[in-house]
Amino acid sequence: MRTLTALAIAAATVCSLRAQMAATNPPIDWDKLRPEILERYRALVQLDTTAGHEILAVDYLKKVFDAEGIPTRTFALDPNRPNLVARLKGNGSKRPLLILAHTDVVGVQREKWPVDPFGAVMKDGYVWGRGSKDDKPVLTANLITMLMLKRLGIQLDRDVIFLAESGEEADTTGVGINYMVSEHFGEIDAEFAITEGGGARIDGTRVTRVNIGTAEKLPARVRLVATGTAGHGSVPRLDNALVHLSAAVEKVGRWETPMRLNDTTRAYFQRLILLSPPDRAAIYKALLDVKTAGPAQAYLREHAPAEYSMLRTSVVPTMMKAGVGANVIPSEAEATLDIRALPGEDIDAFYADMAKVIGDPAVRIVPLPASRPPSPASKLDTEMYRVMEQVSNTIYPDAAILPSMSTGASDQAQLRAKGIQSYGVGPASTESDTLDYPAHGDVERLAESSLYPFVRYVWNVVTEIAKHK
Ligand SMILES: [Zn+2]
Repeated sequence: MRTLTALAIAAATVCSLRAQMAATNPPIDWDKLRPEILERYRALVQLDTTAGHEILAVDYLKKVFDAEGIPTRTFALDPNRPNLVARLKGNGSKRPLLILAHTDVVGVQREKWPVDPFGAVMKDGYVWGRGSKDDKPVLTANLITMLMLKRLGIQLDRDVIFLAESGEEADTTGVGINYMVSEHFGEIDAEFAITEGGGARIDGTRVTRVNIGTAEKLPARVRLVATGTAGHGSVPRLDNALVHLSAAVEKVGRWETPMRLNDTTRAYFQRLILLSPPDRAAIYKALLDVKTAGPAQAYLREHAPAEYSMLRTSVVPTMMKAGVGANVIPSEAEATLDIRALPGEDIDAFYADMAKVIGDPAVRIVPLPASRPPSPASKLDTEMYRVMEQVSNTIYPDAAILPSMSTGASDQAQLRAKGIQSYGVGPASTESDTLDYPAHGDVERLAESSLYPFVRYVWNVVTEIAKHK
């Protein structure tokens, strides 16, 4: 409820705020800045920064910052995978703002691409290339914001810290956010952060929804290991490890784990009631009432699995391994479960519940090493969240604003675990673009027309939260 009230207030104050921002923000001729935004964005997309080559982006950024007189520092656990930090100093009356983006991209299968994946080719109104969505728009917006803060000599109440980090996509050795948090946290410590993890949706020609990322689930994967007696395939045995494992996988795969809403997901579904056609709105409404939540969940499980996953800690069997020959009963069989925990889940208690569901002493639950720390959701009642709502209203008038929880995992986990209130941003896409050209997909692209409003969005958020008032 609190969020809905806040949204109503935000909507009501949009006009006065817009006037105020126009009056106090230094004038930027955004049309004139377009060629530079596009040039820098394309230059970054043209760098093949798959894991191990992040230095290419750092070299580029360092050169740009050097030319503008913005000092930088690099921090590298692996010399080919450095992280770059640039800081514009404020007067210290407020704690810093961190704006970060990752420089690495996932790999490509060149034969799947209609164009050079590192060409930043411009075709049909899109810029095509690996990283064109993930994460070079954010990297570009952060870079342009730093350059303009410096060029315009904006007085700041807070330091603005720019971080270009390596190894977000693949970081088995901890070169990126883990290294910065464990070895150089003082360089990036901040009250608030913005980074990838949000976005906006275009319907027709209009942006209708803005998602502000405020929370994410935590990977808490396990192996299920069943043991029995090895033997000849011609002799059936009651303790066959494969049979025990299969039964356990069947039980956890169908297990309806408890539904639990948090501030973010409650506000998210409340907003969806207002935005959805009547049939679907009725489902969301039913979801928010304990008496009717059961059938609503069953509907989402079948028709909207991603929304179903937002309701609970999820258990998804993803791998099975057993056996060496058609005539050999193996003594061991194992399965991997991709478990994604809600923020605040008591993982040990959850594993204990899962053991009860399995109810078979022949099957052990073996947790896999944690890839991320547990992280609380970021708050919705902060100055930063309010600014992001206001700026959303300015850049995308009449769009609905939804706090959102990612079912995936990101580097925001490490920041939130350290007490930084971190929020996800991202450029706008149509639904079909999101489905057909997703981040990490065979082919990635971003509408050029989405890039410029997104840069302005980041600029407005940063100046509104950090500039001297
Ligand atoms: Zn990313």
